[in-house]
Amino acid sequence: MSVATSEARNDRGEWRPASKIVPAPINDWPPRLSALARWLFAFPGYLWPLNLFWLGVTLATWTWLTPSLSAMQSLELWWVALVLGRNLALTLLLYGGLHVYLYVFRGQGDAFRFTLKPLATDSGRFLFRHQVRDNMLRTLASAVPILTGFEILTYWGFANGALGYPGLTGGPSGFWGWFVLLLLLGPVIHSVHFYFGHRLLHTRWLYRRVHALHHHNVEVGPWSGLAMHPVEHAIYFSTVVVQWLLALHPLNALFQIQLAIFNAATAHTGFERIKFGGRLAIEGGSHFHYLHHKHFECNYGGSLVVLDRLFGTFHDGSEAGDRAMRERLRAIRAAAN
Ligand SMILES: [Zn+2]
Ligand SMILES: [Zn+2]
Repeated sequence: MSVATSEARNDRGEWRPASKIVPAPINDWPPRLSALARWLFAFPGYLWPLNLFWLGVTLATWTWLTPSLSAMQSLELWWVALVLGRNLALTLLLYGGLHVYLYVFRGQGDAFRFTLKPLATDSGRFLFRHQVRDNMLRTLASAVPILTGFEILTYWGFANGALGYPGLTGGPSGFWGWFVLLLLLGPVIHSVHFYFGHRLLHTRWLYRRVHALHHHNVEVGPWSGLAMHPVEHAIYFSTVVVQWLLALHPLNALFQIQLAIFNAATAHTGFERIKFGGRLAIEGGSHFHYLHHKHFECNYGGSLVVLDRLFGTFHDGSEAGDRAMRERLRAIRAAAN
């Protein structure tokens, strides 16, 4: 358990958590089944509290804020507008809520905050020279319409039998087993897809034209999460295509899309954890991804399935991790010369 004290900051105002990042048991090979089972059901663990909370949001969205599939058989403005409107509201609530709590009301002060540098309010890197306004515009005017587009295609596809294998007769028990399994795998699919999409974005051509825009955010806040070029939005939310290929029910696809919304927010808070009262603290891969924004050359993937460890780019947040990263980059430069 790390301790956040202002005394632990260096003279640049940076804070490093006392404990290094330890990948979850899902990354262990050979598998340690008892550790895996404990982690699945622990609090906090894989299911509780975050992923089950997000699943609850998805269930509520599907039940009360999504028209019936039969109503969505043909593309009509009213339901497209309804889905777009609720996605705008949901994003404003989550991203705006986190921003207001952490940066306006300063709900936990600087406890667990990685740097004391403020979000930019006069920088040529951002539209309006203002980081939060830039980030908000890119989120609400680009990310939300693009993710809504994926969602509309999903509903239209399921409503018309183009998705979901309508001819399949697996029986109700087969359906429910597959349905629950795909819900359980949602965060894993997100993490793996994010790694490969993100590596692609770090190729020279795409980095310069597309992904550099996201990296203008060196200091990050919640709104930085979806502050991306539209092409990156299309790549990022294309994780739902996995569900188009596998799922028998649109709710699996909706959960996949919403996980991409939720995870981008929690990974960019600028705080290692978010405290709610004295007992509950939420960690959403923030330290893992913060290191990517700070150093660029590490932690390309999600914090759940740490493919970076497999490919040699994992940074665990420690000083030894800093040294290992510098040595790795030196070796790459030496090999290139
Ligand atoms: Zn990147
Ligand atoms: Zn990021």
